[in-house]
Amino acid sequence: MQSQCVPVGARAMSSNLNNIPGKHITVGVAGHVDHGKTALVRALTGTETDRLKEEQARGMSIALGFAHLALPGGVVDLIDVPGHEKFVRTMIAGATGLDAALLVVAANERVRPQTVEHVALLGLLGVRCGLVVLGKSDLVMEPEERARVEAEVRTFLLPTFLRGADIVWASALMGEGLARVADALAGLLAASAPRPEWPYFTLPVDRAFTITGQGTIVTGTLRRASLRVGQMVEIWPRGLRAEVRGLEVHGRAVPIAQPGWRTAVNLRGVKKEDVAHGDTLATVGALRPTRLLDAELTVLESAVRPVKRGQAVTLHWGTAEVAARVYPLGPVEIAPGVSSPTQFRLAEDAVVPVGEAFVIRAPSPPETLGGGHIVDSYPAKHTRVYEDVLRSFHVLAHGTATDRLRVKLREAGPAGRDRRELTLDLGLDAGALTPDVAHFCGGLALDSEVFTTLAAQARDGVRAFHAKNPLRRGLPREELRRLLPRSLAPVAFASLLEAAARAGTLETTAGLVRESGYNPEEALSPIEREIAGEVEARFRDGGLKPPDLGDVLKRDRRRKNVYHFLSEAGRLTPAVGGAEGRTVVFHAEAIAAATQRLQSASWGDGLSVSELDAILGTTRKFAIPLLEHLDALGITRRRGDRRVWGEAEIKDEKERPNDDTP
Ligand code: GDP
Ligand code: MG
Repeated sequence: MQSQCVPVGARAMSSNLNNIPGKHITVGVAGHVDHGKTALVRALTGTETDRLKEEQARGMSIALGFAHLALPGGVVDLIDVPGHEKFVRTMIAGATGLDAALLVVAANERVRPQTVEHVALLGLLGVRCGLVVLGKSDLVMEPEERARVEAEVRTFLLPTFLRGADIVWASALMGEGLARVADALAGLLAASAPRPEWPYFTLPVDRAFTITGQGTIVTGTLRRASLRVGQMVEIWPRGLRAEVRGLEVHGRAVPIAQPGWRTAVNLRGVKKEDVAHGDTLATVGALRPTRLLDAELTVLESAVRPVKRGQAVTLHWGTAEVAARVYPLGPVEIAPGVSSPTQFRLAEDAVVPVGEAFVIRAPSPPETLGGGHIVDSYPAKHTRVYEDVLRSFHVLAHGTATDRLRVKLREAGPAGRDRRELTLDLGLDAGALTPDVAHFCGGLALDSEVFTTLAAQARDGVRAFHAKNPLRRGLPREELRRLLPRSLAPVAFASLLEAAARAGTLETTAGLVRESGYNPEEALSPIEREIAGEVEARFRDGGLKPPDLGDVLKRDRRRKNVYHFLSEAGRLTPAVGGAEGRTVVFHAEAIAAATQRLQSASWGDGLSVSELDAILGTTRKFAIPLLEHLDALGITRRRGDRRVWGEAEIKDEKERPNDDTP
């Protein structure tokens, strides 16, 4: 008996058992056309899977057939795939999400082309265990002949995933071995590993139809996670939404379907034309379209020639397919039998979840070239392959959840990633993203090291600013922002400043960022201190008729620096006003005195500028910039060409309940 086997690409996040009464596996019945697959399924389950008229007339399977076998240990779903070469695409659609294979080889015909192709495809699609039936055993009765056939089949299986599989002789016609086939299936069921848990479900649609009175129904194998009645789902690639109105498993209505089950989903909110074979149903918000895929690609041993850089292929996954070009991330050619990290560039948008198994085929002449599984559904475009691209690929393919998160966070750099999207992209639970991996700014996650580097950069920027402008209180926030990478998100910048404040390195007041405790006062040299005293005195003495700033500064660099220092310290205030936008600088005490005088004035219906000039004891030239400054602070307010006291105006507005402004 085989040990537990987990399909490749189905990486476990945790090993919690899914809540299914009994176990369940889906087994693909594969093999060359006419080797007796459909007859075997019928003999085992009583289900006729060749339901189509054409199938019955031609005696050949065309569509996928579904049957199931209830065993003491649980349920085995059997998917009867067509064996004819022409239906390989259908075969691939049927083989998606399989847990195991049941290979049928007619004993009288032995290994034929589609026997080889099917085993290769199943291997590429990540199936790792199964069972082999030497069918039509009634046609080969001689023990010696049987031994020869069996030896031949074993040799064929040796390099495949079925090398250790049980081989059972059976006849659908005569009944020989059928019980043993069922036993072997029960063995596979018992040996099956618990399914890995995913944070979202997918359901590749194999059929869509309508039933009168019920609406739109789609069928497929439910993958990755469970699906409930009432749940909203997204339908890709169109991105439509619908509600699950009902679920049916094995012909019975169920409130919840578990991953692995063949499921019929009754959808509310979409027409039959809106959903078709090849679409994917998924949890809302879990997936999005992509044009690039990074994948581990294995070229079949049997391929005629290597797969080359830029080669056009058809990529098949789930029940869908898309035209793509191959860009190996290693050498430009991938030889038969070789695996290579590869980027696919898709001809159109497609929704292909991470971990998904795929097959590539040459469009013409049709030939299966290889396959593998998706390592990154949303990679950057690798125009040239550097060492670090391959290193990241390797981590994404084989690394721990933490390492994979780090790769994507580093890739995002200062822009960071949406937390939910990041974990979903990697098929991880939100809990996998912990504070030791990332710095969180609301819904955004930044790589911890990137964040630390940015914090250091900000600190250095502020330090350099202080060194260059010792008399300035700090660096305007927006100037600091410009010193950091453009891609840095605003929330991340805010978070950076908060973290620096918490750490006691930087502080921000009134839009200025400085090193904590930085005091420009201490940076004043004796000469500067003297200049400061003189400049301040001139403005203080000037009152509401202050001197002209240019006259005071005398185009002197040092005097200018001192002036900045005084204005940032709040001792001098530049007021801009009038039609020419003149700047008049007032001392803080002059403004305070003016405010007091205005407060005690009798405002009546408001005062004109010349009335205010008189109250303030100044002239229009100074009064206008001052009043506009006070307007901006809300101390006074303009009403037409008069002014009112700011607070009076506020009260006034409250008293007018029915303001007729729109
Ligand atoms: P499939 O194409 O692999 O699904 O093959 P089918 O199940 O349609 O069978 C192909 C043909 O083989 C049919 O004519 C069957 O009657 C015949 N066949 C199937 N099973 C047996 C068997 O166990 N013994 C014999 N002698 N013929 C069989
Ligand atoms: Mg058939």
